[in-house]
Amino acid sequence: MRDLFGLTQFLLAVLIFVPLERLFAARPQKIFRRGLLTDMAFLFINAGLVLAGVIAIMTAAILVNQSVLPAAVTQTIGDLPYLVQVPVVILIADLGVYWTHRILHVVPAMWQIHSVHHAVEELDWLAAIHQHPLDVMFMKAGALFPLYALGFSTEAIGTYLLVYYWQAWLVHANVRLNYGPLRHVLVSPEFHHWHHSSETAARDKNFAGMFSFYDVLFGSAYLPKGQDPKAFGVDHPMPSGYLALLAYPFVAWTAKRKRDDPSEVQPMSKGGEPARPRQSAPLS
Ligand SMILES: [Zn+2]
Ligand SMILES: [Zn+2]
Repeated sequence: MRDLFGLTQFLLAVLIFVPLERLFAARPQKIFRRGLLTDMAFLFINAGLVLAGVIAIMTAAILVNQSVLPAAVTQTIGDLPYLVQVPVVILIADLGVYWTHRILHVVPAMWQIHSVHHAVEELDWLAAIHQHPLDVMFMKAGALFPLYALGFSTEAIGTYLLVYYWQAWLVHANVRLNYGPLRHVLVSPEFHHWHHSSETAARDKNFAGMFSFYDVLFGSAYLPKGQDPKAFGVDHPMPSGYLALLAYPFVAWTAKRKRDDPSEVQPMSKGGEPARPRQSAPLS
């Protein structure tokens, strides 16, 4: 189980996505692109940090399960057959991902965390791991807290995590896959690539991880026919090294506090201007 999301699965992902990106490339792009070493640091160091957060989320959710929710409710849910639990778990978890992801975009302090993920300019499958650990923890809280609190089985939640793991690689992959009419139901690579687009019209759109119909339902879907996103990234400077990216939200929050504090003397910028959150679309 330990290696389920570890090295073996990652090597399997390399074997799948490297050739897949050669065969069905949406854009011409090198395998050994910029930022590859940083992504490896995200892969191997983030896991430990995130695990601590996930354990805290699970503990809090199990406490709610045992002390707040009526036993009859959690018992009924826990007794549902595995094949019924899995689709329900995926639907609930993705709704959690949708709203936590949207909050990460529209709340300026949260955007400083999430902009680490959007800093990737050469989008490919590895962008899935280019995420600040606080970002991963917050989204995992949105997905997993309700599941553990409601009492779904560990097997059903484990299946969701496995599906989400592979879906995350796929939607970031530089591949062109035609989902046909299913593109309005399931999140495709094209759908998530638009989420990463730096074009104004595509900003703060396409928040779902698995089901694009959540974006259709909540008015945030953006999938123009016959067009491809032209550029990715954010409109403010971002560092590129792992440690600098890890420190980035804290640096940005401190800089904002100083800017907002009238007693602080504002020093002249020497090229290290802290980032301002980008314009976010209002919640609709
Ligand atoms: Zn995002
Ligand atoms: Zn992404």
